[in-house]
Amino acid sequence: MTESFSQLQLHPHLAQAVAEMGYESMTPIQAQAIPVVLQGRDVMGAAQTGTGKTAAFSLPLLQRMMAHENASTSPARHPVRALVLLPTRELADQVAQQIKLYAKYTKLRSAVVFGGMDMKPQTAELKAGVEVLIATPGRLLDHIEAKTAVLNQVEYVVLDEADRMLDIGFLPDLQRILSYLPKKRTTLLFSATFSPEIKRLASSYLQDPVTIEVARSNATASTVEQHFFSVQTDDKRAALKQIVQQRQISQAFVFVNSKLGCARLARSLDREGLKTAALHGDKSQDERLKALEAFKKGEVDLLVCTDVAARGLDIKDVPAVFNFDIPFNAEDYVHRIGRTGRAGASGLAISFVSSSDARLVADIEKLIRTKVDLEPFELEDGRGSANRERINDGSRLYRDEERRAARGERVERSERPPARRTPAKPVDPFFERPYEPSPDAPEQPAWETSVKVPSRVSANIKTKRKVAALFKSTD
Ligand code: AMP
Repeated sequence: MTESFSQLQLHPHLAQAVAEMGYESMTPIQAQAIPVVLQGRDVMGAAQTGTGKTAAFSLPLLQRMMAHENASTSPARHPVRALVLLPTRELADQVAQQIKLYAKYTKLRSAVVFGGMDMKPQTAELKAGVEVLIATPGRLLDHIEAKTAVLNQVEYVVLDEADRMLDIGFLPDLQRILSYLPKKRTTLLFSATFSPEIKRLASSYLQDPVTIEVARSNATASTVEQHFFSVQTDDKRAALKQIVQQRQISQAFVFVNSKLGCARLARSLDREGLKTAALHGDKSQDERLKALEAFKKGEVDLLVCTDVAARGLDIKDVPAVFNFDIPFNAEDYVHRIGRTGRAGASGLAISFVSSSDARLVADIEKLIRTKVDLEPFELEDGRGSANRERINDGSRLYRDEERRAARGERVERSERPPARRTPAKPVDPFFERPYEPSPDAPEQPAWETSVKVPSRVSANIKTKRKVAALFKSTD
C-alpha cells in the first residue's frame, strides 16, 4: 500500500500544496482511496470526518482535472467538472476551505454555495466559471433553477456524509440533482455507516464501486476507551461531575436525547460551576455559533447537545464524549463517540445506562458487534448508583426469547445481544496503533497543529441573519 504522498506522483502544484499542509504520510483512507479514484473508479467509502477523507477524494479529483487547467478568463473554459455535496453549511464551508488550499497553486477554481446566504455573490462566482463546486443540496437546486449552476459537464460527483444527507431528508433533492448530471461520470460516496438506505443509494447511483472502509462500518475506533456505567437517572449529573473532576477532563461533548433535557442539564451544570453551553434545535443560529466559538476557544468546557444539533460540527479531538442519555438510534452512538479518539488520538466515551436502557444498549452491542460490560458506578458519597436488577431485565427477556425459540415457538423480536466475543479488530493498522504522545509533544497533536485550515467558521458565514435551518433540526 502506498504510504507516502511522494509515491503518488501528484502534479507538482498539488504536491507543493500538500507539502505545505505539513502532511507527512497518507492516512489510511487516503492510501486506499486516492489510487482508486486516480483510476477513475467509483468508490463507496466508510469513513468519518477526521480521517482525512476530504484529501482522499479531492486530491485525486484535482489531479485528474489538471488536464483541463487553463488561465483563460472565459467562463466557458471553466465549467463545473466536480461537484461535492454535503449536508450542512459548516461541512460545505470546511471542505471548500480545504479544497482551496489543495488547489492553491493550480489554475483550477472552486466555489462553495449553501443556504442562508445572499445568492448574488454565489451567482457571480458561478458565472465566472468554477471547476469544483461544493454545495449543500437545497441551495444547489436554487442555482440549478436559476440556471446559474450548469452541471452538464460534471465528470465527478462526491456525496459526502451521505448518511447525514439522508437523515436530514435530502434524498429527493439528491435524486433531482443527480438526474441533471451526465450518466458517464465518476461517483464517490462517503458515509460514516453503511445503512441499508445508503446501500440502496449506492446501488442506484454508483457503478461497480470499490468499497473502502477505514474503521469498519459501524465500528468504533479502537483508540476510544469506552465505558458503560450503570447509573440511576437521578445520579447522572453527580456522576458526570465526578468523572470530569476525577479524570481531569478538559473538554467534553455531553449528548442528551431531547431539547428540553439539553437546556435543563446545561443550566444545572452551569449552576454547579462547570462552564457549560447548550446546543439544540431551539437555539438561534447566532446562539449556536456563539456556543461553538466559546467551546473552540476553550471558554466552555462542556457542550451539552442533541444529536441533530451536533451534526456537521467541525470539532475534532474532543478529549471525552458523554452519553448522558443512551441514544434511541444505535448509529448515533457511533457518530457521537466518533468525536473523540479521532485520527489516532486517544479518547474517552462514557455512557450512563439507566434501568430502562437495556434494549438500547443491546442495539448498540449488535451494531458495534461488541459485548458491552456494564460497570457499577460508585458515587463519591459511597452510594453505588447501579440498579442491576432492573437493567438485567433486558437479558432476561432475551433468555426468555431463546427458550421460546428452542421450544419451537415463534419469537417476534430477535435482538439478542450477540455472544460474548472480543471486539472485532478494525482492519486498519492506523487505528490499531494506540496513540502515544511523544514526551516532548505539544499539547495539541502535530497532526492538528500542522494543518492550516482555520478552526473558526469562515468569513463566508455571516452571523447576522437568522437561518432557521442551519442544522435542519428536527429534534
Ligand atoms: P477530514 O477527515 O478530511 O475532515 O480531515 C481531518 C483533518 O486532517 C483536516 O484538518 C486535514 O487537514 C487533516 N489531514 C488530512 N490528511 C492528512 C494527512 N495525511 N496528514 C495529516 N493531516 C491530515
